[in-house]
Amino acid sequence: MKRVIAFTVIIMIMFSMFLLLKNTFSPPMVETEAEPDDEVYITFEPPERHIYDIKAHYDGKNKIRAEMDLTYVNNTENIIDNLYFHLYPNMFSSSEHIPFFKEDLYRAFPQGINYGGIKIDEIKQDGKNLTWSLAEDDQILELPLDSPMGTKDISNIYISFELTVPKARFRFGYQTFGKDKITMSLGNWYPILTVYKDGKWCFDKHYAIGDCTYSDISDYTVSFTVPKDFTVAASGVLEKTLLQSNQVTFIYSIDQIREFAATISNNYQTATEVIDGIKITSYFHPEDKRGGFMVLNVAKYALDIFNKAFGKYPYPELRIAEANYYPGGMEFSTFIMMDTTKYKEPHISSTSLERSTAHEVAHQWWYNLIGSDQINEPWIDEGITEFSTAYYFEKRYGQPGRESYFGRQVDTTVDFIENNPRHMLDPLPLFKNHREYFAVVYVSGVLFYDDLRSQIGEENLVDFFQSYLETFKYKNVNLKEFEEFLRSKKYEALDESFYDRWFNS
Ligand SMILES: [Zn+2]
Repeated sequence: MKRVIAFTVIIMIMFSMFLLLKNTFSPPMVETEAEPDDEVYITFEPPERHIYDIKAHYDGKNKIRAEMDLTYVNNTENIIDNLYFHLYPNMFSSSEHIPFFKEDLYRAFPQGINYGGIKIDEIKQDGKNLTWSLAEDDQILELPLDSPMGTKDISNIYISFELTVPKARFRFGYQTFGKDKITMSLGNWYPILTVYKDGKWCFDKHYAIGDCTYSDISDYTVSFTVPKDFTVAASGVLEKTLLQSNQVTFIYSIDQIREFAATISNNYQTATEVIDGIKITSYFHPEDKRGGFMVLNVAKYALDIFNKAFGKYPYPELRIAEANYYPGGMEFSTFIMMDTTKYKEPHISSTSLERSTAHEVAHQWWYNLIGSDQINEPWIDEGITEFSTAYYFEKRYGQPGRESYFGRQVDTTVDFIENNPRHMLDPLPLFKNHREYFAVVYVSGVLFYDDLRSQIGEENLVDFFQSYLETFKYKNVNLKEFEEFLRSKKYEALDESFYDRWFNS
């Protein structure tokens, strides 16, 4: 009883203190006579960017059902009466749509060609049902709006859809292994708004090589409900995990990224490191622990080197997940997929895993923070990213690092580039194979920035990277803007012969 009295007294004292403090800190009540036409305005800050809110349910096999609420902000100068979305999963919907070269088919589909895609069930604009159509081999969703949108108008677009994920070693695909293990990649997996640039929507499809991502910076909240023995690794920050009987929900969110990706597996272990306040998490299969830790170590050094050279990575976390992706490593915003074969001997002891990890970390700046059209102008992000990879080897290991990188990637390729009809500024569809694309676009990037550095010096090069980032951060840049920006720096050492050498094919 004594306890109850003591407790009541404490509560009463706390309440009186609360009243006292409230009166002390509240502004004094001043009675004013309101004018009869005074109105109360509640200020509402409209969102600056699109906001994607997606809820996905995974069945533990190859199906995902999802609902997406998109807050669309018309950031164009024009009236918009149609919206267009990429439906990349439909590249797997039939044999004619699969974009790979013939010789890559067995690498993408080791157990034979397998199909998948995205089926749209329902679309609404601000609660009203809309009808839609598919174009460009079902890879573009065309959505006539119920009411046209003026500049800065905002609208809610609701889309429910179902994914059938193909058994493929790709950004969108899964593989099974062991008795009942499965690892699934979800890259380019939801309806993604196409970019509107210079009065046009960009409908480019995925090509047999290279990346297809070309999108605007947006904010994301994405939840995945999966059977409870699965883990979800994804873009952004893991805000919450909710366990309900035999399911678990992972809720991720992040602002100002270009695209949201994830992997799902019932065979993941994790390891983490923190560098400059950024938490890095490596997800790997337990049998590939050595590779999982190596990825973590390389990412830590790479973030440190690039933070200093380019400007700080602005997000709290970075995740790198072992996945099934036959071309190697794939960058997404604050998230990287790395192919499982790189985690295994003998690749782990060569520098294959290290080069790919450093390369994909560099893309966090050159692709994510500064976006570009990866189909028509792939050199903009791949050239600077591959130079950043060489820069990582040089800064981490000194001259021997530079020599080993050049010895493997550059010296063996220079003749090939010189004798090749393709130019580094060519669009993706002109390249005939991976070797030609890597040599002409990636390695020429290393040679370009190395030449730039030899002309203007290391200090100016670092200044160039930092001011380039400041100028185009969270935007998309094209080749013309890039060249204009470089010229605007007015480096005395750069005469017309430099521009002729690199920008004229
Ligand atoms: Zn790349």
